[in-house]
Amino acid sequence: MLQPTPVLKGKDYREVLIRELEAGKIPISLGKKCPVQCEFCYELDHSYRETLEPPKTTQEDWEFILDYINKKPTDPMQFWCLGGNEYMEWTDLFLHPKAMEWVEDFLKYTDKNLTFFTVGFVHVPKIHQLAAQYPGRINFELSAITLSDYRQKLMPHAPAVKHLMKVLDGPAVSAANFYAFDVYTMSKDAVTISGVNQKCVLWMGCLTPVRGLKEDTAALMRQGRKFLPEEAQRIYDAGLPNMTTIHTEAYITAFLNRKRIVSLFDSLELDKKDTVVMAGSVYKILTMYRKNRARFLYVPNATLGGDSDCTVLLTFDDVARCLTKEKVIHVPKCVMQSGRGPYMDIAGVTLEEFIRKTRVKVKVLHKIDTTFANKRLYGKGSLKHYVEDYLSNPLTHSYEALSVPA
Ligand code: SF4
Repeated sequence: MLQPTPVLKGKDYREVLIRELEAGKIPISLGKKCPVQCEFCYELDHSYRETLEPPKTTQEDWEFILDYINKKPTDPMQFWCLGGNEYMEWTDLFLHPKAMEWVEDFLKYTDKNLTFFTVGFVHVPKIHQLAAQYPGRINFELSAITLSDYRQKLMPHAPAVKHLMKVLDGPAVSAANFYAFDVYTMSKDAVTISGVNQKCVLWMGCLTPVRGLKEDTAALMRQGRKFLPEEAQRIYDAGLPNMTTIHTEAYITAFLNRKRIVSLFDSLELDKKDTVVMAGSVYKILTMYRKNRARFLYVPNATLGGDSDCTVLLTFDDVARCLTKEKVIHVPKCVMQSGRGPYMDIAGVTLEEFIRKTRVKVKVLHKIDTTFANKRLYGKGSLKHYVEDYLSNPLTHSYEALSVPA
């Protein structure tokens, strides 16, 4: 097993804060595990990466954070991210008693933009007042998840639907994400949310099971995948005024971007004998369209486990486990562009460590970077693309039926 070299050991807490800040994060901490305890939380098992047990953020820490951010040049395209810490476990940061006050400080004392996620622990009407007072500065992604009866099972400690409706009713929410679990779950939620807020983006799809989730929770997510097509079709037919997106499932994203994936592959000018590392969906696309044009090394996302299927989230350990006799492999650059640092995977293992341990030569495919991957994710992520080019496409049946090597 490839172990990352620890980087936090002996480090001062402030140094860790600086690491997060340098990555565009606003590193607030609750000082404890997330009390919401959602059954689907991807942080239930974060053992694959080194994290720090940070103390609860104090006013003094906050002043340090704000001062640090203020010294950075303002990029109008940049949104500083409250949440999504790399070295500190994810929690719903709006449970910090000072969170609303600090959001206001950020808007008042900096000229920068802010993005945040929460399951809804914001103060109403304060959040609407701030959104109206600082137009365009807040990107608020509300994790609604589901308004259906499954809500109680999946997120028993989250805010009630009634509160969520108040959060949605006003200018604050930029996007609301929610998912298919059964018949009339996602589609019903879309109509309800759109009835309250016609401007927010409806960000939909399925939740993907990862390692550490309970079996019945994973089964519910998989059930949602089965209902996704009919649920999406209902929303398409409803013709809601909101912008609507479906892009949480890798196999859909890969199929919708098949032409771009194939043309990028062609531009790499690889030889038949070259071995290229990739996750499942890309493997299927290239097997469909470019069979035998190179040796496609399918690598499962074993570190994240569950049904994960994403080249960006592959680890060097995942790759090492799939090696047999290879002397040289081609690895997409996106595998080593994680938040941990350059040429590091999401677990913190470096390319250098991988080469040293496996003695395999790596040729980095620089064209397949995170910019390419993100463009593919967002470019064809609308509900319209999914319904018109995925569900209505006769090729999807053979695509979904294709298997990856055991
Ligand atoms: S609120 Fe967010 S961080 Fe907390 S348990 Fe739920 S999904 Fe995880």
